[in-house]
Amino acid sequence: MYRSNTCGELRITDISKEVTLAGWVQTVRKFGAITFVDLRDRYGITQLLFGEELNKQLEENPLGREFVLQATGVVNERSNKNPNISTGDIEINVQSFSILNRSAVPPFTIQDDTDGGDDLRMKYRFLDLRRNAVKKNLELRYAVNRAARNYLHKKGFMDIETPFLIKSTPEGARDFVVPSRMNPGQFYALPQSPQTFKQLLMVSGYDRYYQVVKCFRDEDLRADRQPEFTQIDCEMAFVEQEDILNMFEGMVKSIFKDVKGIDYTEKVHRMTWEDAMWNFGNDKPDIRFDMSLLNLKKPASVYVSKGDRSSLINGTGFKVFDDAETVLAIAVPGCSEYSRKQTDELTEWVKRPQIGMKGLVFIKCNTDGTYKSSVDKFYSEEKLKAIAEAANAKAGDLVLILAGAEERTRKAISELRLEMAERLGLRKKEEFRLLWVLDFPLFEYDEEGNRWVARHHPFTSPKPEQISTMINNNPVIENAAEYLKHPYANIKANAYDMVLNGNEIGGGSIRIYQRELQEKMFAALGMDKEEQQHKFGFLLGAFEYGAPPHGGIAFGFDRLCAILGGSESIRDFIAFPKNNAGRDVMLDAPATIDDKQFDELQIKLDLK
Ligand code: ASP
Repeated sequence: MYRSNTCGELRITDISKEVTLAGWVQTVRKFGAITFVDLRDRYGITQLLFGEELNKQLEENPLGREFVLQATGVVNERSNKNPNISTGDIEINVQSFSILNRSAVPPFTIQDDTDGGDDLRMKYRFLDLRRNAVKKNLELRYAVNRAARNYLHKKGFMDIETPFLIKSTPEGARDFVVPSRMNPGQFYALPQSPQTFKQLLMVSGYDRYYQVVKCFRDEDLRADRQPEFTQIDCEMAFVEQEDILNMFEGMVKSIFKDVKGIDYTEKVHRMTWEDAMWNFGNDKPDIRFDMSLLNLKKPASVYVSKGDRSSLINGTGFKVFDDAETVLAIAVPGCSEYSRKQTDELTEWVKRPQIGMKGLVFIKCNTDGTYKSSVDKFYSEEKLKAIAEAANAKAGDLVLILAGAEERTRKAISELRLEMAERLGLRKKEEFRLLWVLDFPLFEYDEEGNRWVARHHPFTSPKPEQISTMINNNPVIENAAEYLKHPYANIKANAYDMVLNGNEIGGGSIRIYQRELQEKMFAALGMDKEEQQHKFGFLLGAFEYGAPPHGGIAFGFDRLCAILGGSESIRDFIAFPKNNAGRDVMLDAPATIDDKQFDELQIKLDLK
């Protein structure tokens, strides 16, 4: 027996017991004739006391950091208690010990505030994983996994594995491919998600499916992405959108309860995609705070149903606004007393290349009822007041206005809104606000190919009342500059995203389940019959054998864990993550392979 207890287990009630512990040496402190050793394992740290006798043995066999040590002794009450650790009331008076293994000096200290930089810790990830901070993240990940599984199991979902060596599943990214030795010159693709398999399972009658599953997407890895990541992937048959929304808001609430002890009793707020774009400038708004947008000049995009307020800014000769495609404003609460220095700093902030604006216009809504702005030359106080009121600004608020090309300005104001909320402490880590964003567009315009691509994926169904618009219109875009006028631009999908604190944590749709409509959809995306047959013959075929109505959703498991753990980075919640270049620096992968392997694959490498 290597140990009787763990290093996190013993308490004052265990005094006088003889115990054996095994773990890693965290610190060694020598005080004259006695030595204290902190012994660590997954469960905690226990202090060991080596008296005079054993000290001599220690001198002959000195302990070093991260040595693997086994020690037997008696539990004693500590004279100098440590209230910060759970075993802080006791120590082990060691009677005998054995060094189970030695350790080289670790390249960084294995403690909460380590001296190791990111790269070093990635290279020695197996050591980094010994640290409390990382361990806590993995524990949280496991708790989320368990909570999701428990909920889904209770609801009758079945975990069914699907293959990794498959044919391409289009989810909008590039595939990772794997050459087949037995079929020379042919390649498998790794799944971007189990999408088509879960739909086939519905055809097979497994009406509630789930899987906590790896997905592979060969994307550029900006913005905290990983080439392989995990989804909680789900599908249900005989459901409408409403059933899915209810089932999965239930799942997330259940995760909140089990993992964080949070009772999220209110119904999850819902918003259409158009409203999200109009009011927040993006499709995953953080609704922990308001600061919604004032569209001073209507963006020329698809959300045509909304009015604009350009009369508030027109006719004063202010060229910046007159020439801009879009003018958007937010009212930031309580910031009217910003100094010149502060507004200058904000202007610099929006000019940074990541934001890309040329400048910032502001209106101070002073508490004495006056209005002051950076464009006083062009706008009377009365006009400023009208703009501020339209932006819902109150006395004491600061209205910030951005003008420029549509997409960039929308993104910039979204970022600015988040930044101001951050500065005002409105993005509290422990406050969780869920949101369903509904009615996404079915298609997206691909400028490069001058064609339509599926906004979610090609298996997503259009709103029933818009099926005829899809079927009866030619997908060809005659005039690229006017693609928004094409009837396809306004077709909405039965698709939904779940958003948590400004992050998309899940997305899905009600699927097409009739062969004919699926063929029409593929055709709308520019696929001829032959290509359809080659890529999706199996699915079209399956739809001929009694496919039930179905729909589903997938949650980004890594991201959900990161948010619940209060972190920006999904990497912290993955045991062995890749770096920004998609490399595993510990394994040094990807790597070249042997000539023999190429020979077996009958592949000759000829890099372009
Ligand atoms: N397969 C989709 C995705 O990975 C999710 C879904 O539609 O269920 O985004």
